[in-house]
Amino acid sequence: MHPQEAFIKEATSKIADKDLRQRVTFLLEGNDNKRKLALDEFSNLELAKQRAAYVKWKITENLDKYLVDFEAAIVRKGGKVVWAFDAANALAELDQIILRSKAKNIVKSKSALCNEIGLNEHLRSKGKSIVETDLGDYVMDALGEKPFHSVMPAIHKNLSEVNKLLNQKIKSSLDADEQELVSDIRSELRNKFFEADIGITGANFLVADTGFVAITENEGNARLSFAFARTHVVLASIDKLIPTLNDLDLFFTLLATHASGQQLTSYNTITGPRNKEDVDSPSEFIVILLDNGRSNLLATQDQRQALSCIKCGACSSVCPVFKNFGGFPTFQTYGSGPIGQVVGALQQGLEEYKYLSNASTICGKCTGVCPVKIDLHNHLLRNRHEAVQQGFEKTGEKLAWFTWKKFMLNRKNLNRAASIKSFTFRQLYRTDWGEKREFPKIAEKSFNQLWREKMGSV
Ligand code: SF4
Repeated sequence: MHPQEAFIKEATSKIADKDLRQRVTFLLEGNDNKRKLALDEFSNLELAKQRAAYVKWKITENLDKYLVDFEAAIVRKGGKVVWAFDAANALAELDQIILRSKAKNIVKSKSALCNEIGLNEHLRSKGKSIVETDLGDYVMDALGEKPFHSVMPAIHKNLSEVNKLLNQKIKSSLDADEQELVSDIRSELRNKFFEADIGITGANFLVADTGFVAITENEGNARLSFAFARTHVVLASIDKLIPTLNDLDLFFTLLATHASGQQLTSYNTITGPRNKEDVDSPSEFIVILLDNGRSNLLATQDQRQALSCIKCGACSSVCPVFKNFGGFPTFQTYGSGPIGQVVGALQQGLEEYKYLSNASTICGKCTGVCPVKIDLHNHLLRNRHEAVQQGFEKTGEKLAWFTWKKFMLNRKNLNRAASIKSFTFRQLYRTDWGEKREFPKIAEKSFNQLWREKMGSV
């Protein structure tokens, strides 16, 4: 099925699910309130955002230099960097690492890239065991579904759904509350960490000058994923760089406040290849640096700003469209919410994914909340413009707009009876308007007719 058809099908079913929409809206609004309180703690939030935007702009404009600096720093310390052009490259490299280290048990902690490259499906198709260790991702993986929100993957699931699933999977009680479920999952995962041969983690930031990998999380599972493993594989995209360790105090706080309304996330780990004096860290440290279409974005003049994203998820949480039909599974793209819609279309191909830019009210709430000042709603408009410039509109769409323009520029047509205008409107937009939406009621008299009646002829 074409991604746009799948998107329309998913969105239509989500919009019709009132319970889901109410639950998601309630939780996201709660998160939004927490974020506002945390942001009040900044003495000058605007300045912090400007600084972060500047640092990320500097990185993006000089990405070639910073990437090479990062690689050199990692290699100097005894680690390895692998450049993966696309998902297939990254998976092939992982296969090699697994083969070479004769790994049987693999654990992974939250990394959006694992979903992007289809890591779990790939390894399982080869008979390898891989265990998700982030609570939300663990639930979504067990359900065989993709995460809903980048920071809160299972936000749309209610307790009874999760209870039923975990009762079958790990024999937890059907009446267990949230605390009991967390405790059951923790017991289940504890041995998986001890037995892991390879721990795969994502990275929140890659520090260019020192070759450190910074990971921020609330459950401690990312740190445990590589604490006992022989090999630590970091799967990170090329846009995760920051210049120096000093920049982390700004980025850790901006990320925590915007993602979850915390002043600082509970566990903040700065790691890298093992030092000579270390006795208990993984003996092998490998960073897989993934491009997977990000260079397409870098090649654009304006939209490359989207590579500054620090994946806080705030733009999704405030987006009225996202609240109504959610993230990854609906949009059929790697990313979620407004940033996923901007990046997805350019990363995966504008012709096929141009619909992502249209699923927006362009209200600008996403731009207002972004900690690195990405001009999200205008990038969506730019993508729309680009799609038209490149001739990617459907013939029917072109015809509909041509007819609409002709109609709207003709005073006689505009003053025709409402019934004729309604009929024309329905004929033009019958398929695209959607089954669940009512057509707008066209006023009996046009503005021009009302004006003439009131003011006389003009
Ligand atoms: S675009 Fe901005 S608000 Fe959205 S996830 Fe990225 S950093 Fe956060």
